[in-house]
Amino acid sequence: MSTTHDLLARLEAEHALSHRDWVGLIENRTPDDESHAAERARAVVRGVFGDAVYLRGIVEFTNVCKNDCLYCGLRRSNAGLRRYRLSDDVLLDCCRRGYELGFRTFVLQGGEDLRFDDERLVPVVAFLRERFPDCAITLSLGERSHESYQALFDAGANRYLLRHETASPAHYARLHPGDMSFEHRIRCLWDLKGIGYQVGAGMMVGSPFQTADDLAADMLFLHELQPQMVGMGPFVPHHATPFAGERAGTLADTLFLLSCVRLMLPGVLLPATTALGTIAPDGRERGILAGANVVMPSLTPQERRGDYLLYDNKICVSDDSAACIGCMRRRMESIGRRLVVGRGDAPGFGAGAGARERAAAACRRLEGGE
Ligand code: SF4
Repeated sequence: MSTTHDLLARLEAEHALSHRDWVGLIENRTPDDESHAAERARAVVRGVFGDAVYLRGIVEFTNVCKNDCLYCGLRRSNAGLRRYRLSDDVLLDCCRRGYELGFRTFVLQGGEDLRFDDERLVPVVAFLRERFPDCAITLSLGERSHESYQALFDAGANRYLLRHETASPAHYARLHPGDMSFEHRIRCLWDLKGIGYQVGAGMMVGSPFQTADDLAADMLFLHELQPQMVGMGPFVPHHATPFAGERAGTLADTLFLLSCVRLMLPGVLLPATTALGTIAPDGRERGILAGANVVMPSLTPQERRGDYLLYDNKICVSDDSAACIGCMRRRMESIGRRLVVGRGDAPGFGAGAGARERAAAACRRLEGGE
């Protein structure tokens, strides 16, 4: 039987493991293996990106959501939440301020808010594309139709973040209400890929009912999808959800899986998430030292940040954007890294025929065509 060191060496060399090997690696690794994985992930990320850490500015423009995900503080059943929608002017002001501060990627993030249909959103994206031609526009708006994704892409969006949350249908069903569909979530990711977006998927680590089998399925799915970004942070409970009493995901598990993702997908853009900074004061620095290479401070107006809480005790809700970027720069410099101004696209990204063909094949599979 392979030792965990062997498995990590194989992962680094071949960028893939079998389901059984993933389960073995996740279940049997020791603190020594975790340190070793982080060391190898650091070497890999340095080889691809040097000491650069990329900056993305998130504008959380609506906290209204039609869905009721069991883990999320924005779920529609949370009647205690003060709901908001930023006006177009405020949203554009956030981006303008972000640009002055050095951000060259704007992440427009929100719940699945029916008010933001294509008629409302497409002109906003088109305006941002024209106003900030040197910036990447990333959308994180949940599940939409293929036509909608295409219209937003045509208007100038470059990237789309849609966490798959779990690649196990049975686990998905325990995290989401019956009116949400695992198949549709996965279909959306392949649609995005087929259209030509730089795509981000990902999952919570330590979410309720999650097993090593589920995490192995997540890793295999990420390998198949070959996303340009992976958003992965610890599960943190929110008091107004059915999972209020559940335990948070651990720092050790999250860091280890970040290292594994880096070894599997060497050129991936991998954020050290705010959730990681929430469960440990130096969580984001440790995430970078485990192989991450992106940080995502908020550009949301200060007076709204406290209303965009997917989980409890979120950090940085009372800081302004300038303070956030200064703090982040110091944190990265303290570990020998450098925040860079630039779009920070995935290396060698092109919508290329390979990606489109893989996406088309996956869509055919989902439709039962092969
Ligand atoms: S996770 Fe996303 S889709 Fe689900 S309730 Fe929260 S904001 Fe809505």
